[in-house]
Amino acid sequence: MQLTDTHCHLYWHKFDEDREAVIQRAIKAGVTKMLVPGTTIETSKQAIELAEKYPQVYAAVGVHPTDAETLSQDNFDELYKLAEHEKVIAIGEIGLDYYWVKESEKQKHQKTVFNSQVQIADALNKPLVIHLRELNDATEGPVFDDLFEMMEYWFNKWLYLNHPLGLAPGVLHSFNGNIDLAAKAIKLGFCLGVTGPVTYTKNESHREMIKNLPLHRLLIETDSPFLAPVPVRGKRNEPAFVRHIADKIAEIHSKSPVEIAEITSANAARLFTWGD
Ligand SMILES: [Zn+2]
Repeated sequence: MQLTDTHCHLYWHKFDEDREAVIQRAIKAGVTKMLVPGTTIETSKQAIELAEKYPQVYAAVGVHPTDAETLSQDNFDELYKLAEHEKVIAIGEIGLDYYWVKESEKQKHQKTVFNSQVQIADALNKPLVIHLRELNDATEGPVFDDLFEMMEYWFNKWLYLNHPLGLAPGVLHSFNGNIDLAAKAIKLGFCLGVTGPVTYTKNESHREMIKNLPLHRLLIETDSPFLAPVPVRGKRNEPAFVRHIADKIAEIHSKSPVEIAEITSANAARLFTWGD
């Protein structure tokens, strides 16, 4: 079985003791590609270092909305240079977070920082890895509206110029919106990332939503070291556990885990153009 984990923070300090073993376990479990997104300039560099070291690892570079203040005019050029690296296949994770950041001034700043990073994606033709989190994790709300509103400018431009990002702009990481938002995102060309919460007992409505999504738009992600799926919930998450997410989607969509692994790996390869 060939699996892909399109979101794992392997540079995180929780992997300092055994990072090599974690990556080898993932490879042994059939995870042939792992995408490591940065959240700051510093962690973006660390993601690139891992991508240079392991053929199975790819990097995304970007500044996370909760770190938005760390991106300045000064280091923007540095981020741009990092984004040009051949193993950087996406810009992220970037986005909006109104869960941890509630002040409207700071939320406004997140939008500015998001837009400036979409400029890099636009110039280098690399898709977006988008983080969206709402207060109380609502399934609808201003984060989605705000994102779509910002993206409107870019979509119009991309469609007008026949830019490839107009067809495949990126992935909404760990998507937890409702079916209407999912339909809207899919219509705009986004893929939706499915993470550990799909396995949590109480998340019946989330599974119901996933059941109604087209498989050719789903990516599976661990978000390691966070969001460990059942049956390892509560532990440190790692890419090898992406199998549990594939198993759950297989169950929901009445397919075999092998089919889900193949489909989601092909989806990732199409979006990130990393072969296979
Ligand atoms: Zn993340």
